[in-house]
Amino acid sequence: MASSLQTLIKILRLEQQKEYQNRAVIGGLGRFAYHWAREAHSQAGSDERHALVDDIAVRLRDYDALPEAERPATIEAIIGLASSSADEQSSHSAGRPAKPAPSGAVAEASAPPVESAGDLAIAAPETDPDEFETVSPDEAAATVVVSPQTTRERRGYAWKEPPVATPDLIADMQKPVSALPNVGEKRDELFERLNVRTVSDLLHFFPHRYDDYSRMKMIRKLELGEEITVIGTLTNINKIRTKQGTLRIDAILQDDSGALKLNWFNQPWIEEKLKDGEAVVASGKIEQYLGRLVMNAPELEPLESEWLQAGRIVPVYHLTKGLSGKFVRKIAKAVIDQYATGLPDYLPLPMREDADLMDYGDAVSQTHFPDSPEDLNAAQHRLAFDELFVLHVAMLRQRYAWQSRPGFALAVDDDWTAAFRAALPYPLTDAQERAIADIRHDMSGNIPMNRLLQGDVGSGKTVVATIAMAMAIANGAQAALMAPTSILAEQHFQNVSQLLLAGPGGEGIQIALLTGATNAGDRATIYAGLADGSLHAVIGTHALIQPDVRFARLGLAVIDEQHRFGVIQRGALRDKADGGNPHLLVMTATPIPRTLALTVHADLDLTVIDEMPPGRVSIQTRVLQPKERERAYAFVRSQIQQGRQAYVIYPLVEESDKLEARAAVAEHKRLQETIFPDLAVGLLHGRMRPDEKDSVMESFYRGDTHILVSTSVIEVGIDVPNASVMMVENANRFGLAQLHQLRGRVGRGAEQSYCLLMADQHSLDGDDRLRAVEENADGFALAEIDWQQRGAGDLLGVAQSGFGRLDFSRLMDSKLVDLVQREARAVHDRDPELQLDEHQALADRVARVGAAGDVS
Ligand code: ADP
Ligand code: MG
Repeated sequence: MASSLQTLIKILRLEQQKEYQNRAVIGGLGRFAYHWAREAHSQAGSDERHALVDDIAVRLRDYDALPEAERPATIEAIIGLASSSADEQSSHSAGRPAKPAPSGAVAEASAPPVESAGDLAIAAPETDPDEFETVSPDEAAATVVVSPQTTRERRGYAWKEPPVATPDLIADMQKPVSALPNVGEKRDELFERLNVRTVSDLLHFFPHRYDDYSRMKMIRKLELGEEITVIGTLTNINKIRTKQGTLRIDAILQDDSGALKLNWFNQPWIEEKLKDGEAVVASGKIEQYLGRLVMNAPELEPLESEWLQAGRIVPVYHLTKGLSGKFVRKIAKAVIDQYATGLPDYLPLPMREDADLMDYGDAVSQTHFPDSPEDLNAAQHRLAFDELFVLHVAMLRQRYAWQSRPGFALAVDDDWTAAFRAALPYPLTDAQERAIADIRHDMSGNIPMNRLLQGDVGSGKTVVATIAMAMAIANGAQAALMAPTSILAEQHFQNVSQLLLAGPGGEGIQIALLTGATNAGDRATIYAGLADGSLHAVIGTHALIQPDVRFARLGLAVIDEQHRFGVIQRGALRDKADGGNPHLLVMTATPIPRTLALTVHADLDLTVIDEMPPGRVSIQTRVLQPKERERAYAFVRSQIQQGRQAYVIYPLVEESDKLEARAAVAEHKRLQETIFPDLAVGLLHGRMRPDEKDSVMESFYRGDTHILVSTSVIEVGIDVPNASVMMVENANRFGLAQLHQLRGRVGRGAEQSYCLLMADQHSLDGDDRLRAVEENADGFALAEIDWQQRGAGDLLGVAQSGFGRLDFSRLMDSKLVDLVQREARAVHDRDPELQLDEHQALADRVARVGAAGDVS
């Protein structure tokens, strides 16, 4: 304890010398407080000492925000506290009252610490001089460096082989959460709603954000632009519907120093969370509106004073009604304390060292209850690595297994391709030609093709797939195309049939459509035709992978909008070929930057169609402020008067489909009743039954519905050429790639089309992001920007539903992707089937990825 007090005193003296500019340590004293308090607590032997550390730490934390005039007195006071206690320890005189030390007591401060028997039973460790390189007051220019990176590099991370997990511990982790003290049957059900069934699930139920009680500020000291957590009491709760149609809920958050306005736009469910007079913790970004500081859409939590006292970074978990944050934290803490250190690490030690990754148990534990922001970063970095790494290894392995079984060589000659080209209603673009060349090359060999065709909405992927199907059929093999919805399947059936029948040898081709709506009699005929080979091609939905479907000679499986399917379903269609090993072509309009695609789709070769067919009208995109909503409605109306149709999209505002659906339902009602009472307004959201969705879509398709209000479920390749305008509410909440995909629902006909992005708040960041969509017609460029700005979260979320849950995708930047690729390839090259002993734990985990590959 004495040693950390001495260190502190040295630093504070330096701060005095540097004239209170908060430059004695890089990063400032507030930040230094974390490290110091941790060290000092570890040396404190009594309750009083812990209290003293807390007291000092709080003062240090607030120092950054102090006006300069108040700084000298504060430093003096802290030195007083520290040196009296340091004194007390060295002179072994318990009970001596704390008094400020005379200023300039450098001799005392720099005296070597003497540990007395009264302090700690064992000698207190020195504060690690490497961790905080203190500077003698004479070296006035020198400064102490406390940056996460340097600290990490200097200190290194002490890798260890964690205790080998005993079978007991592993079995124990599989017990239901109800077996934990205080949980019980009733809460068990509530946990189940959060997908937490076992102790192990709870260990891996990570916080979705944190409240940093160690970086708390008084309201008076808040600054524009900072992301911060503030404590206060709620008052003046208001709910206002503005003239422009925005719903605004606001409240005042008050503490002893001042008041802060809180705003929520179009988030009706916030209302029930707000209680007048309640003490809460609000987290968010400080913004400015009409000269006043405000926090827009802050996250709220009831105040828990024990965390405040501890000055910790507090995990905030997703909750469900009946489970409080406080309770979940308590249970999580107990489980972490008991199990986390015993968690086996499935990455071999040399790899962890090479890739500089924290041990798994520590990473789990620090992600729940971080000791410092640096520990949290390192922990999340490890877990993000894991998610991507396991996925990558699983994909490489899948590809290896797939390609080690021979397939059919399905070659066509140049005359055939020329004849097919001649039969098309339009010339192919160069990009389409390149894609066809790739596919033709793959299919002519007997190593089965595994190809991903990525191309923006409207780039003409269908015709490419159709030519691939025709190549298979020309060789006497069958082809199947699976789409995620019956509407899409029907669209494909019409288009593909037309193209196939017009192509070389087209007259004899038999094609069928198979969806959930196909009646029993037709279904039986189709099953028989596929089984005996008299049907050459089939187009359908999930109905294609039902157990009774068998193919006589499936040569090519095509999957459209593959992000709607899991890896397993991809495999399921391929496996329909009795004994054979068909070629596989998967298609997606989701633009993903190439390096990221090569990781998450490492089982596939990649072809990108980067060119649009000629004559496409560009979609005019405009970012609008909430006050322009009336104008937007008027514009929508004018388009409808010209015979067009419109989409109004409500995004995922919170990560809950239920809330999202509720927002869309409320908005639908409002638009229908008050804005467009004379028009037909339809509603589509993810909580509707498939047949309800189909009938809504059909009505829109036929033109009976003028305006379709929808959540982001609309994004699957729907094609209604008459729709010419899309209005996206709360557009800042979407990823750019997703906005681009949404926008692709319009501009599918001959008419000039429009996309109106409604910004939900005055946030500069949000606006800049949206401007990128306004300025860029290229989905890949937007995806790249998205990736740089927000990590891979949005991209992976829309890229593939079959990965299971990815908790840390936001942290996946290009550096992490490179690291993952390097390590995964190293493992794969050495041990492609993961048979080495050191890879057994990894093999288990990889096997579980495959099992999770299911459609959501
Ligand atoms: P997506 O890649 O989004 O699946 P589609 O295959 O549905 O795109 O093609 C969009 C539209 O472009 C279709 O109407 C299709 O007939 C047309 N199209 C495709 N290729 C060309 C081309 N080379 N020239 C002109 N129109 C084309
Ligand atoms: Mg398509």
